[in-house]
Amino acid sequence: MLIFDQVHFHYKKDQPVVKNINFVIQKGEFISIVGKNGCGKSTIAKLMNGLLLPKDGEIFFDNLVTTNPVERTIIQKQMGYIFQNPEDQFITTSVMDEVIFGLENIGISKEEMEIRLKESLLLVDMEKYAHEQPHSLSGGQKQRVAIAAILAMRPKLIIFDEATSMLDPQGRQQMMSLIHKIHKQGVTIVHITHHMDEAIEAERILLIHEGVIEYDGPSLQLFETFSVEKYSLRLPFAIRFQQKLNANTKITKDWKGMIYSKWGTNS
Ligand code: ADP
Repeated sequence: MLIFDQVHFHYKKDQPVVKNINFVIQKGEFISIVGKNGCGKSTIAKLMNGLLLPKDGEIFFDNLVTTNPVERTIIQKQMGYIFQNPEDQFITTSVMDEVIFGLENIGISKEEMEIRLKESLLLVDMEKYAHEQPHSLSGGQKQRVAIAAILAMRPKLIIFDEATSMLDPQGRQQMMSLIHKIHKQGVTIVHITHHMDEAIEAERILLIHEGVIEYDGPSLQLFETFSVEKYSLRLPFAIRFQQKLNANTKITKDWKGMIYSKWGTNS
């Protein structure tokens, strides 16, 4: 679905930020991108949807290429982008209008708009707030509205770029449940995070270090076999817990992808 083919990028000449990156994301995957501050995660996300263009190499999405302006517009319609601060994304004065705005721009019929509005607010559990002002909501609720507006556009892939970092632990947990729910609906997920407890919930992790991929593989394996502290990443709680218990536990994921430790099953 998404291909990075020998991608290079810099903001300033002679200061490469992304160095010869290659990876493929298949339809329906749930990937986390991790790495310490400034390693290039957001730059990679912006390259994915054509907000930035590679200095060398190509990025393809469903056989369309981001460097072609016409194809880039099509890609951007199919790819949602959720930022750290949802307020930056609000342009209207009610939750309902916020969801409808994007649909009006692409000429969706009134009937279809009604359906999508209801469906997306229901999915993020915000149907009761349709007439509220987005700015009056809590941080988590604002993020849900931003997600509803994206979902109404029926994207194939959603990038969550540190979307949980402004939330408290409970808000982060609710956001992770929502991300799993959206993934279960068939949307491909790219989740950029510096919380390893969240990253481990993805099926696959890309670990970025100074603009190159240091690890690309199953999320559990990264923490169980790779020395992540070297990259200033904290081990997820489940792994620390397992180590404390002398490895007499097995880290497992439940049907929703949530992590838990099973006591005494390490045989
Ligand atoms: P991360 O998301 O991993 O924190 P970024 O992709 O935001 O990293 O940034 C990677 C590098 O590029 C950093 O050194 C950062 O300072 C630099 N950078 C990011 N955005 C810009 C910009 N608009 N202009 C110049 N340098 C930038």
